[in-house]
Amino acid sequence: MTDLTSLTLADAREGLAQKSFTALELTDAHLAAMEKARVLNAYVLETPEQARTQARAADATIAKGGAGPLAGIPLGVKDLFATTDVRATACSKILGNFIPPYESTVTSQLWRDGAVMLGKLNCDEFAMGSSNETSAFGPVVNPWRREGSDTNLVPGGSSGGSASAVAANLCLGATGTDTGGSIRQPAAFTGIVGIKPTYGRCSRWGIVAFASSLDQAGPFARTVRDTAILMRSMAGHDPKDTTSVDRPVPDYEAAIGKSVKGMKIGIPKEYRLDGMSGEIDKLWAQGADWLKAAGAELVEVSLPYTKYALPAYYVVAPAEASSNLARYDGVRYGARVNGKNIAEMYENTRAAGFGPEVRRRIMIGTYVLSAGYYDAYYLRAQKVRTLIKKDFEDVFAKGIHAILTPATPSAAFGIGEKGKADPIEMYLNDIFTVTVNMAGLPGIAVPAGKDGQGLPLGLQLIGRPFDEETLFSLSEVIEQSAGHFTARKWWA
Ligand code: GLN
Repeated sequence: MTDLTSLTLADAREGLAQKSFTALELTDAHLAAMEKARVLNAYVLETPEQARTQARAADATIAKGGAGPLAGIPLGVKDLFATTDVRATACSKILGNFIPPYESTVTSQLWRDGAVMLGKLNCDEFAMGSSNETSAFGPVVNPWRREGSDTNLVPGGSSGGSASAVAANLCLGATGTDTGGSIRQPAAFTGIVGIKPTYGRCSRWGIVAFASSLDQAGPFARTVRDTAILMRSMAGHDPKDTTSVDRPVPDYEAAIGKSVKGMKIGIPKEYRLDGMSGEIDKLWAQGADWLKAAGAELVEVSLPYTKYALPAYYVVAPAEASSNLARYDGVRYGARVNGKNIAEMYENTRAAGFGPEVRRRIMIGTYVLSAGYYDAYYLRAQKVRTLIKKDFEDVFAKGIHAILTPATPSAAFGIGEKGKADPIEMYLNDIFTVTVNMAGLPGIAVPAGKDGQGLPLGLQLIGRPFDEETLFSLSEVIEQSAGHFTARKWWA
C-alpha cells in the first residue's frame, strides 16, 4: 500500500469511501509520521487519543452511510484556535496552560463534517511574525533545505507549524490565520497552497484575536483542490461574529478545472520592486504566460498606494493588537506573576508573559493610539487603508477578474538570519501580502517554481470580494503547469 500520509486530501477521501483503508489506519499513519518528525517542531501538542476517537467515529459513519464531506480526514489546527478541553496558547507564555471550554466556529465546522484533529500547530506568538521564530515553543523548521546544505530554514510565519506539517505530510491539511500574510507567505516558503478568504467569509469566533479588522482564517493543503474542499467546511455565516457575512457558501471544488478563457488578469506594475531578485521576476512572468496559454488576457494595472501599505499596516495592526491584548492581565487567563498590588501584578504578568515582538507591537500600538498622536498615525493609516481599498476597486471596476503577483520577495531564509538588528527586515516579507488584508480581499498562494538553490517559490492571486472560486480556477492552472513540490525527506 502507498504511504497513506503522502495522499492528497481528495485521494484520501476517495480511498476512505472505497474502503481501501480505514480512517483509523489513516490517522495512525499520520500519528506515526508526527512522532518521527518532532525535530521540525511543527506540533506544540499532539492529541492522539482524541484523533483515534474521532477516526473510529468516522469509520462508523462511513460504514453506515451519510458521512460528512471530511469524514476521517486528519488535520492539524493552528494553536490560535480555541479547541474544547484541548490546550490553546497562541504560542505565548501568557496563556500558560489555558484550556478553553469552547470550540472556535471554524474548527467546530471541521469536526461537524467528520474531520479528525491530530494536534495543535506551532505559530508565531499571537500570530505576530513572518518566520515562526517568535513562538514561546521555539522555531519551526521548514522541511525544505537548500541544495547541498543542511542549514535549517524557517517555514515562514505566522502559521509556520501549519505550513511545515502540511509540507512534511504530517497532516492532510491544516487551519491557519492571515492578518498580513500569515497563510500565503508560509505556503510559499514550503511549496504548498494556502488561501486567505475574503474578510467575513470565515467566522473569527473562538480564534485568538490579533488585529480584528484584518484577521481571517483559511486552509493550507498540498493541492488547490484540497484547499477548496477545506474552505467549504470552514466558511459560513456565524451570528457570533458580527463581521461574518451571511451569504451562501459555494461548492468551491466545482471551480477546479473550470475554464479561465477570456478572464482578465491584472499585473500591477507597483509590485516590481527595486532590487527584487531576477528569479522572482522570472517566476512571475512564467505564471502570467501559463495563464495566457490557458486563454486568459493579461492587463497591466496600477495600484499606486501599494507603497504605503506596509507602513500603514504596521500602524493599524499594532493598534488593534494593543487593544486586543489588554485582556491578558493575569486575572482571566493563564499565567500570573504576583506583585505588591494589582497594578504591579499586571505589570509583572505582562512583562513575563509576552515575548519581545509582542511587547514591541503593544508599545507601538499604544503610542499610535495615544492622545496627540492618534491623528498623525492611526487616523492617517486608516485613510491610507481606504485609498488602498479604492486602488483595488478601481482595477476591478475595469473588468479585471484577478490580480497576479509574487507571493513573497524571496524564498525561505535560515533560522536566525533575519530581523535581529532591524525588525523592519522581517516586516518586509509581507510586502506583497498586506495590501490584500488592508482591502479585505481574498488571496491565494500557489507554488510555481524553485529558486537557484532548489527552494520553492509561490505566486499570489488576488480576487474580487467573495470570488474565491475564480482564485481556485486560476491557481489550478498554475498548479497544473508548475507541478507539485515535495521536500527531500531528511527528518525521519
Ligand atoms: N507577518 C505579519 C505580522 O507580523 C503578518 C502576520 C499575520 O498575518 N498573522 O504582523
